[in-house]
Amino acid sequence: LSKRIEAQAGQPCKTEDGCRIQLYINAGLSAEVELNANIHNAGIGLYRTEIPFMLRERFPSEQEQVQLYRQILESSPEQPITMRTLDVGGDKPLPYFPINEENPFLGWRGIRLTLDHPEIFLVQVRAMLRASLGMNNLQIMLPMISSVSEVQEAKRLIEQAFYEISDEIKSQNIQLHRPKLGIMLEVPSVLYQLPQLARHVDFFSVGSNDLTQYLLAVDRNNTRVASLYNSYHPAVLSALYDIVRQSDHNQVPVTICGEIAGEPGGAILLMGMGYRRLSMNAYNLRKINWVIRNVSLEESKELLSCALTANTHEDVYILINNYLEQKG
Ligand code: PEP
Ligand code: MG
Repeated sequence: LSKRIEAQAGQPCKTEDGCRIQLYINAGLSAEVELNANIHNAGIGLYRTEIPFMLRERFPSEQEQVQLYRQILESSPEQPITMRTLDVGGDKPLPYFPINEENPFLGWRGIRLTLDHPEIFLVQVRAMLRASLGMNNLQIMLPMISSVSEVQEAKRLIEQAFYEISDEIKSQNIQLHRPKLGIMLEVPSVLYQLPQLARHVDFFSVGSNDLTQYLLAVDRNNTRVASLYNSYHPAVLSALYDIVRQSDHNQVPVTICGEIAGEPGGAILLMGMGYRRLSMNAYNLRKINWVIRNVSLEESKELLSCALTANTHEDVYILINNYLEQKG
């Protein structure tokens, strides 16, 4: 099988019946970015900026961040690079910024923390903008959004940073492009606010890892309840389906960057729902490309309609496995 996968690497990612699917990678380590640049040259659908922050002993300075982000943007200058603002808290602690909470996943995480510390947010956004000078592939994405006001507040800060940098470079002959702005859809409340959110952003990106955790009320890292944490739970699948339909209806491009997008059965179901942009760990890229090239959109829709009416995620697995076996 791996030989068959290799043989089709680099071939355009479209289904047997010609539906084009755009694949992106999730990254956080420089090595992943390099690997992508050398082998795949895909866009980056999710660059987790918290990873380099977690590997340090103190907050990186603005200049240090500029250097880091510049390397990432330059790694694939023709492809969109989606940088997510700091998503710490929850399961991602910063050693030099301790947070002690009883319910970290329901606490001070992601955008909540950075809006309470606008100086951290501003330095990061300024660094992203400065890194993007003369380039036009930066997109900024906000994690853990649960309401419209967070988007408005973050946008205000991004605009502030944009005007500061514009002012600082006005005597130089260099272009600063306004980056596209997107939000993660990973807190269930946003499912009921998509039309309102759509008016404020350029794109959505579904974080199915957290969406699963919050929809099912299951800590994604607690081994005791690990068997309950499953993105193929029919309720999660219905939520994912609802999101893509609402995004299309509101004409906002939507990507999905949770783990499910990098799994063969998941990618097929997502395609059937209407997702056309999948972002995944780089090591899944070839496999998913191969899977997509060997199924039809028609078949993926049939599989989806069975999965949506299943009772449990185990039933969904059986459907997927039967389908994949029959495909060989
Ligand atoms: C997610 O929640 O699905 C996601 C992609 O972000 P992270 O795994 O970094 O929380
Ligand atoms: Mg998340």
